[in-house]
Amino acid sequence: MMVVMKSGSSSAEVQQVVNLIKSWGLDAHLSTGEERTVIGVVGDTRKVQRELFFHYSSIEQIVPISRPYKLASREFIPMNSTFPLDGFEVGGKGVFIVAGPCAVESRSQLLETAQAVLEAGAHALRGGAFKPRTSPYAFQGLREEGLEILAEARELTGLPVVTEVMSPEMVPLVAKYSDVLQIGARNMQNYSLLHAAGESQKPVLLKRGMSATIEELLMCAEYILSHGNRRVILCERGIRTYETATRNTTDINAIPVLKDLTHLPVIIDPSHSTGNWKYVAAIARAGVAAGADGMIVEVHPRPEEALSDGGQSLKPKHFAELVCQIRAIAEAVDRSIAPAKIEGCQ
Ligand code: PEP
Ligand code: MN
Repeated sequence: MMVVMKSGSSSAEVQQVVNLIKSWGLDAHLSTGEERTVIGVVGDTRKVQRELFFHYSSIEQIVPISRPYKLASREFIPMNSTFPLDGFEVGGKGVFIVAGPCAVESRSQLLETAQAVLEAGAHALRGGAFKPRTSPYAFQGLREEGLEILAEARELTGLPVVTEVMSPEMVPLVAKYSDVLQIGARNMQNYSLLHAAGESQKPVLLKRGMSATIEELLMCAEYILSHGNRRVILCERGIRTYETATRNTTDINAIPVLKDLTHLPVIIDPSHSTGNWKYVAAIARAGVAAGADGMIVEVHPRPEEALSDGGQSLKPKHFAELVCQIRAIAEAVDRSIAPAKIEGCQ
């Protein structure tokens, strides 16, 4: 439910309504626009004694929220949510580019990749230190040593680091070394992890579960938001369908649908969506053309030697070409790409 205040309401009048809402044991979320203030009522709205609102002449109207998620919904917060990450405005006009290897394999592999993606125009470095692998016998990541290498890459390149956290107990450790906590597809509905990420002060990149609906993704974002963390990025990374020609099926529809339903930034992962480096550029371009606020792409200097996801990793040269293509697409859909002049783009 939203309480729309009359335009010109004073802060004391807004506060009176907030106090009333709090007296029912509910939370009030303020959106202060240029014209008017909207107060979102958060919690079990059955506790609302609606008729008491009639006594407040500063209230214009009461609007019910039809979505099961509130804090994530555009009904509740109409303006796009943005936040700064090392000087880049995530969710703003610029297309956010995250790139790096699937996993941190060694110091030299990560530093080489970090330098290459920086030069190609990436705004953040990805790399898993804790890897959720389908097989228990597959490479599980360098764990804390991997985090230390990521932090070193950050020092050397200035790129903020995005890395996966797999359990609530690990949130403080991963948050210590990184700038954005990634919650992977397999953990999208790990509610205690969502809770812990919600209590952390780091932005969260939440990937869609491989069999999750858009509404389930948004409900998971709601967990993080409702525990106090408002910096959440959603990621479409492909879903499981009957099609076997690619690793997953990119739900390109999810991009405009999510942009409609939520104010949160939405990015595309063309690497896990396709599972094949040959299709990565096409799907990245499609995602940005469809309105994605960014992309997260796997890049490896020698994909044929990669310990995980080598088949879908781009070589740095192909990644640099992709960034140039994304720049052209971004301009065509009234977005931009920073830095405006990237070495090597025509
Ligand atoms: C990853 O980003 O390397 C990864 C494991 O992704 P997902 O959770 O989407 O499978
Ligand atoms: Mn991967």
